[in-house]
Amino acid sequence: MLTQLIYASRVTPGLGNADIRRILEVSQSNNRQTGITGALCFTGRVFLQCLEGHRKEVNATYHRIVQDSRHTEPTLLVFEEISRRQFTQWAMGYLGFTAANRDLFLRYSPTAELDPYGLTAASVRMLFAEAVDAARVLTGTEA
Ligand code: FAD
Repeated sequence: MLTQLIYASRVTPGLGNADIRRILEVSQSNNRQTGITGALCFTGRVFLQCLEGHRKEVNATYHRIVQDSRHTEPTLLVFEEISRRQFTQWAMGYLGFTAANRDLFLRYSPTAELDPYGLTAASVRMLFAEAVDAARVLTGTEA
């Protein structure tokens, strides 16, 4: 059964670019094997991640992720069945804290800085949908 899971978490202080690169490398390698696709947003203070794939694999991955000391307060925002994937080409896409992404995050955040804990499930879904659309425009390909 195809499932989508979105959660937010707080970045453990001191986490740097090398840590983020390592998280992405391991994620992309694992997710390719388990058939998981998705994207990871990073603002410097919070993570917002979308995982989609088989319910069993999405669950197992999320359970590993919540135990990771590189972040705290993981909070589930969306967990639902979906009929199609959004991130067909992304084993784990990355939305870093660039000017364009800051604009995108702000559009959906009630506060000046992205606070995913305060977002509705609908806003979180729309944020990721918009990120996929922007990537299609940039690359001229399906996300
Ligand atoms: P191991 O690497 O042996 O991990 C053992 C334990 O140490 C685990 O609890 C692990 O979480 C933790 N750990 C590993 N490396 C470090 C480190 N450098 N610092 C602190 N703790 C560490 N994994 C995926 O497979 N798919 C994803 O999409 C994914 N997304 C992630 C998103 C975020 C924001 C974070 C923080 C991690 C993510 N991970 C993801 C990594 C995940 O948490 C596991 O580290 C990874 O899946 C390997 O787990 P393991 O127990 O098999 O291996």
